[in-house]
Amino acid sequence: MTEARNPAIEIALLGDDGAAPASAPVDTGADGRTNRAAAVADAGKTNIFDFDRPRLERFFEEDLGEKKFRAHQVMKWIHHRYATDFADMTDLGKALRAKLEERAVVRAPQVVFDKASTDGTHKWLLGMDAKNAIETVYIPDKGRGTLCVSSQVGCALNCGFCSTATQGFNRNLSTAEIIGQVWVAARHLGNVPHQQRRLTNVVMMGMGEPLANFDNVVRAMSIMRDDLGYGLANKRVTLSTAGMVPQIDRLALESDVSLAVSLHAPFDELRTQLMPINKKYPLAELLDACVRYALRKKGESVTFEYTLMKDVNDQPEHARALIGLLRDFDRRVQMKGAAKINLIPFNPFPGTGFQRPSDEAIRAFQKLLNNAGMIAPVRRTRGDDIDAACGQLKGQVMDRTRRSAEHRKRLQAAGAGDAA
Ligand code: SF4
Repeated sequence: MTEARNPAIEIALLGDDGAAPASAPVDTGADGRTNRAAAVADAGKTNIFDFDRPRLERFFEEDLGEKKFRAHQVMKWIHHRYATDFADMTDLGKALRAKLEERAVVRAPQVVFDKASTDGTHKWLLGMDAKNAIETVYIPDKGRGTLCVSSQVGCALNCGFCSTATQGFNRNLSTAEIIGQVWVAARHLGNVPHQQRRLTNVVMMGMGEPLANFDNVVRAMSIMRDDLGYGLANKRVTLSTAGMVPQIDRLALESDVSLAVSLHAPFDELRTQLMPINKKYPLAELLDACVRYALRKKGESVTFEYTLMKDVNDQPEHARALIGLLRDFDRRVQMKGAAKINLIPFNPFPGTGFQRPSDEAIRAFQKLLNNAGMIAPVRRTRGDDIDAACGQLKGQVMDRTRRSAEHRKRLQAAGAGDAA
């Protein structure tokens, strides 16, 4: 592991007053100001990061009285050339630049620190406000570079095996805070959309349940896929959900991304123990929604994530039941391989009661799936030395109990019921 900024720093960074402690590097942001100073200066201004292309065009036409191609120029400056100062956008006239200075800002999340793993994985802790920080992880692999992006500060779904869940929930991230994670990583990597792509895939698989923050996530994913944004193909942007059924149906109508579902158990009783959301949306309803998604997307597969936990869900009866569910899915979608499965060995974190199965147990489980004709890759653990492996993202969450309770109520109203 190499520390990019300060070897002494671990995750607990933000003090009670929201300031980084003296030992932590206070980020000065892209323009040299601290986030707090920026927040004061930004009061009342629009953050351009909050806009996807249609909204930015409307902002230029309706609020600024400008032609919409000006919005396209600004998008390229921000997402292709990483400019945050309107003064640098030299193909805009002086008067427009002054108007933009007056009305808007380009404000990315604050980098509290970043760490690089010996295997090339890179993790950023990004300050979202005075009290909260989230994590974003970049995982390079043969011919591709995947960014794992967070959608909420903490998570209310309370899955029993999840490190994020232990932190509670504070709030949804804004569109700016979601796409800002991509911007920070892409700028750091020297990514040039359409030319030198170091960032080829995005997975909404970091902290939080993305479908519980639907509008902001969908808007951010549209910037990821826009040629004026990061130009990623639809199938290279994946949203991973714990199983919010109504929102899966809505996603099928409103976006064209790949779907991944955290399955983790083939039986309702066990899945409800591991993932309380299963009480509201049991396996049959969840799989029905996945079938509808795959049929609507004609020929697209759905990926099912299965975290293997020792003596919990790694036995032959679990593998056999899983095979039955996946075969049934293929039959209903009328496409062999419509259901993909990823096996993820559990990554233990302090305080968890779960354990990683032995390598033999993992191989035995995989073999049962292979013998049934299924490709079942075992996800390699990456970034273990910087706590960036799957399920280890934690960030720094100020869990205000009342806010968590209110969010749970909203989730119940939205249909996630006892899940939260
Ligand atoms: S596994 Fe995902 S949905 Fe479940 S608590 Fe963790 S972040 Fe939330």
